[in-house]
Amino acid sequence: MYKSTGSWYTVKTEEGIFCTARIRGIFKIDGITSSNPVAVGDFVNIEEEPGGEEGGMMITEIEERNNYINRQSPANKHQHHIIASNLNQSILITTLKEPKTSQGFTDRFLVAGEAYHIPSIIVFNKSDIYRKKEMALFEERREMYEAIGYTVLLMSMEKKTGLESLERLLIGKTTLLSGHSGVGKSSFINAVVPEMEIKTLEVSGRSGKGMHTTTFAQMYDLLYLNAYIIDTPGIREFGLVDIPRQELSHYFPEMRSRLNDCQFNNCLHINEPGCAIKKALEEGKLSFNRYVSYAMMLETIEEKSY
Ligand code: GDP
Ligand code: ZN
Repeated sequence: MYKSTGSWYTVKTEEGIFCTARIRGIFKIDGITSSNPVAVGDFVNIEEEPGGEEGGMMITEIEERNNYINRQSPANKHQHHIIASNLNQSILITTLKEPKTSQGFTDRFLVAGEAYHIPSIIVFNKSDIYRKKEMALFEERREMYEAIGYTVLLMSMEKKTGLESLERLLIGKTTLLSGHSGVGKSSFINAVVPEMEIKTLEVSGRSGKGMHTTTFAQMYDLLYLNAYIIDTPGIREFGLVDIPRQELSHYFPEMRSRLNDCQFNNCLHINEPGCAIKKALEEGKLSFNRYVSYAMMLETIEEKSY
């Protein structure tokens, strides 16, 4: 499934033809009742709508998902909206200038990736406008993230540098694309997705007839790379609501490997005695900036009264 607009879903058949379909009855998946049960990236079975006048199609089954990302409904804390599924990796496009992406934002994204078991790639775009100061900051961040195991790329969509390295990472995979508004996501999509396909998807879906519906996610085929990209224009951040305070450090890979060395097994690594994380920090084995992100995230979880 490539895109949903209201109760209509844009589906591509095995023959490569886009069609719109609705759902039959109420789907209940993983115990979650969702207002919008089919996610972009889902593999579905479709059948011709029985008695349907216009040859409408019906989604009759959703295949089991390898993984998915969701978002808490703003109206109802207990209702989650599944945005995208069956992802192999995610790319976060960031910038160090116009606009500047904060490290805190990047780190929250990385924690979400760890929690969902989706590997993250961090792209620094707009390198053409980086001066000495930004290049130094880029090198610092690259070193920090690569040491933890993340892939980091420098790119300029303006000058089309670094694009090939990124394309190479997409081959054969389904990739989630994220980033603040203004970092160059649309520029990237326009550069890699054939114009024809963008147009086809634009007109597909019955909301085209004057009805405005928010699309949270949309998938594109990159046939020449045997790849799929899922764009999530309506989403700033994914829900991290389900991470208990005790678990947060498990989603910082550089902390994860040291947790067993803390004196207390419920250590939050703030001011407990015998804390291996604090010790590693003092010895310069862990990045102080990453620890600050951890401490800040821990605080926001506390406010949610776990
Ligand atoms: P989106 O909001 O993430 O989709 O960002 P856009 O792709 O719309 O880009 C926002 C603005 O940044 C546009 O004016 C682009 O032309 C510009 N932009 C995108 N990539 C680059 C880049 O590599 N260098 C520079 N200087 N500008 C860029
Ligand atoms: Zn500790």
